[in-house]
Amino acid sequence: MKPFHYHEPSTLEEALDLLHQYGERARVLAGGTDLVVQMKQGKIRPEAIINLNKLQELNFMAIDSAIRIGSLTPLSRIAANPFFTGRLALLREAALAVGDAQIRNAATVGGNIANASPSADMPPALLALEAKLKLKKKGGERVVGLDEFCLGPFCTHLQGEELIVEISVSPIPEGSGAYVWMPKRTAVDETLVGVGAWLQADAQGETCSRALLALSSVAPVPFRARKAEAFLQGKNLSRENFRIAGEIAAEEAAPRSRADYRKTLVSVLTEEALERAWRRAK
Ligand SMILES: Cc1cc2nc3c(=O)[nH]c(=O)nc-3n(C[C@H](O)[C@H](O)[C@H](O)COP(=O)(O)OP(=O)(O)OC[C@H]3O[C@@H](n4cnc5c(N)ncnc54)[C@H](O)[C@@H]3O)c2cc1C
Repeated sequence: MKPFHYHEPSTLEEALDLLHQYGERARVLAGGTDLVVQMKQGKIRPEAIINLNKLQELNFMAIDSAIRIGSLTPLSRIAANPFFTGRLALLREAALAVGDAQIRNAATVGGNIANASPSADMPPALLALEAKLKLKKKGGERVVGLDEFCLGPFCTHLQGEELIVEISVSPIPEGSGAYVWMPKRTAVDETLVGVGAWLQADAQGETCSRALLALSSVAPVPFRARKAEAFLQGKNLSRENFRIAGEIAAEEAAPRSRADYRKTLVSVLTEEALERAWRRAK
């Protein structure tokens, strides 16, 4: 591994100053579960590492009519939050899909998003909730939708000196969701297909007033399956319509490898995610 400068800022301001100073030449370290692996493999060789772990102000969850999660929040903390059960269980399910307990204790939600792996588990669940990201740099901040954040595999909208500081869902929509995934071989392997689903029903609970569906690992970036969403709008909440939505979602997927198998998985897992979300709504 190439030698690098190492910094451990104690405040967010100090971290943003360092990022301003180094720009693209530095990488921030959160849990390190992606970054350290990539550095060991020689895929990236930063001139400086800025360890964020002293910035405990970025390790928080605030939940009322909205959800705000600090970017340094470990996935194990999200998985253990009692709010992420019932209709919001998709966030717990996505967090639990990542690696094993040891990985989830270190891995942060901000790192899972910023790394921009096509197979990351948190993005589909957060996309199904139309989450937004608050990005900060020295002297400025902006909010971007998660759906526009990823530009390609391991490539994002983040400018060199920006940090993700917060992930928000505001307001928490009516309805309920589910996250369903299929690992490659074992529980610690990367996800072969992940599906986040959110369903809103009409007052009688029979017709779909809104559906949100997001897929990972079947395209260069996690994305919303908007044709399948549009199909469900105004339809009866039935297993048959969930099956058709799954088939439409599979047509929207563009997997690079094992395409037929992954598309079949998209169909099956989408149907399953919609069915689970609907059961939770009842
Ligand atoms: C054995 C193993 C199994 C795994 N299994 C899965 C899995 O099943 N599903 C899955 O989704 N992932 C999996 N991962 C990947 C990994 O654990 C996650 O992507 C993790 O959430 C990354 O978070 P981190 O805090 O460790 O990020 P880091 O490794 O610290 O950082 C990752 C990248 O994001 C940048 N970054 C981190 N935080 C911020 C921030 N706040 N603002 C801007 N940039 C930031 C870093 O500079 C770096 O480029 C696995 C990893 C391992 C080692």
